[in-house]
Amino acid sequence: MPADTNTDRDTDVVIAGAGPTGLVLALDLARRGVRALLLERAGGLFPGSRGKGLQPRSQEVLDDLGVLPEVLAAGAAYPRMLAWEGAERRGAWDMIEHSEPTEQVPYANTLLIPQSRTQELLYARLTELGGAVRFGAELAGLEQDEDGVTVELTGGETIRAACLVGADGGRSTVRRALGIGMTGETVDPRPMLVADVRIAAGAVTDRAHWHVWRARDGGVALCPLPGGDGLFQLAATFEDAAATVDTTPEGVRALLTARTPLTADEITDVPWASDYRVRAALADRFREGRVFLAGDAAHVHSPAGGQGLNTGVQDAYNLGWKLAQVLLHGAPAALLDSYEAERRPVAAEVLGLSTRLHRATADGEATQRGKDVQQLGLGYRGSALTVDTRPETSGDALRAGDRAPDGPYGGGRLFDLFRGPHFTLLTIGTTAPPPLPRSVRTAALPSYAPYGPGVFLIRPDGYVGWAGTHAGPTLDAYLTAVGLTPAGPTRTEATAA
Ligand SMILES: Cc1cc2nc3c(=O)[nH]c(=O)nc-3n(C[C@H](O)[C@H](O)[C@H](O)COP(=O)(O)OP(=O)(O)OC[C@H]3O[C@@H](n4cnc5c(N)ncnc54)[C@H](O)[C@@H]3O)c2cc1C
Repeated sequence: MPADTNTDRDTDVVIAGAGPTGLVLALDLARRGVRALLLERAGGLFPGSRGKGLQPRSQEVLDDLGVLPEVLAAGAAYPRMLAWEGAERRGAWDMIEHSEPTEQVPYANTLLIPQSRTQELLYARLTELGGAVRFGAELAGLEQDEDGVTVELTGGETIRAACLVGADGGRSTVRRALGIGMTGETVDPRPMLVADVRIAAGAVTDRAHWHVWRARDGGVALCPLPGGDGLFQLAATFEDAAATVDTTPEGVRALLTARTPLTADEITDVPWASDYRVRAALADRFREGRVFLAGDAAHVHSPAGGQGLNTGVQDAYNLGWKLAQVLLHGAPAALLDSYEAERRPVAAEVLGLSTRLHRATADGEATQRGKDVQQLGLGYRGSALTVDTRPETSGDALRAGDRAPDGPYGGGRLFDLFRGPHFTLLTIGTTAPPPLPRSVRTAALPSYAPYGPGVFLIRPDGYVGWAGTHAGPTLDAYLTAVGLTPAGPTRTEATAA
């Protein structure tokens, strides 16, 4: 794809779909000054609690995007699970292993927050940055050529852009228009019902637990949602693969009264309900020319382990800075090849994890979630965009490609230094780097064990892109590959610790 800044186009990037993936991408592009048009077929934001588990790595992304304080205030810790037999309480246990925050990992636990609330907060931040969503605008088709992409909306309107990102969910119109297949399997042929239900105060279910019943025809789980207005997320399974799932409020009430001690009167409202069958599938490609796939459009998962929304957030975060570097800052178009190369293997790994967890849970095996769901260990060591010129090390030592850990810096934290759309060059226990482009922030620390001594170029998405014992020609080559002129005139100096 030729890089250029042709301003005759209507916009730089069209994003189809204002789910969590599209919103994060629009937000990231807005703060980078990339013109983006976010299209959403629905008349408003998605109303359900669906993807309610926000993983530690996603919390770090939202910290960088300036929306985390609001998200943390709106969320809550996951409650303990509580097993019931009819109206009798049985054992309680933790589904999610609790971890204490550390210097390197400030957000150590999965946050419980309804997907609808996460989306509202992302949307609020997007509008704060001058962005917008065009609701009621459905992408119907697309055509691309050497010079751009033409997006056609239902109704016939066309929009011309340099790139298009399909963040339009599991049934992606963009993916189908490109003829990209989804390879995968049905993880479980039995249907599931997921709904938001409001339960009267004083009913059998307290709000301190995630309540679980097992009936002959299937299980029920009721998870209290933060917000204090009596809402729970209901997830119900059905033993019979041919079962018909009734998603009407009456159907949901009937199911709950049949499988739990709740009475119909105690279920005061069912604001949202949906049914689905769990599939695990991966798009054969994440890119075709100027068009990219992200989020559920590129990979669909079991909800087990809370990976789907989080993986979409990471896709958007990986793609945003690359689009900006190519479209606005003259980076070679090859930079965009690294999007699929980095994200597709991660999605494949996450798919395997959520399928394993789903099957273990369905088989009644241990349901506890460990550190593997937090997405902190995912990285890009094997990427063509990863360069480590230091001798190979063994064990857990930080290598290029890994997530750049947090830590104390001056009176604050390294994450304060990283926050924003820039690259950061961190020198630890070594001589100061040569002059760098203005858009690279530099900082020095006398020592910090989690990094070890050396020079580390931190990408805008918080991964170590380049590492060495000292700056040199390979760092210069790296800077060129990401659209930064190596011998720039000035640089932003951060206060030394
Ligand atoms: C029961 C359940 C529980 C889950 N729990 C978790 C969890 O705990 N943690 C987690 O990470 N994930 C979870 N997920 C998955 C999560 O909900 C999804 O992965 C997430 O919503 C994907 O985000 P997205 O933005 O990629 O796609 P979506 O959220 O599907 O958004 C796509 C958007 O595109 C719009 N759209 C579609 N077609 C067009 C078009 N042609 N033109 C314009 N707009 C269009 C849609 O209206 C929609 O708003 C769960 C899913 C389910 C079903």
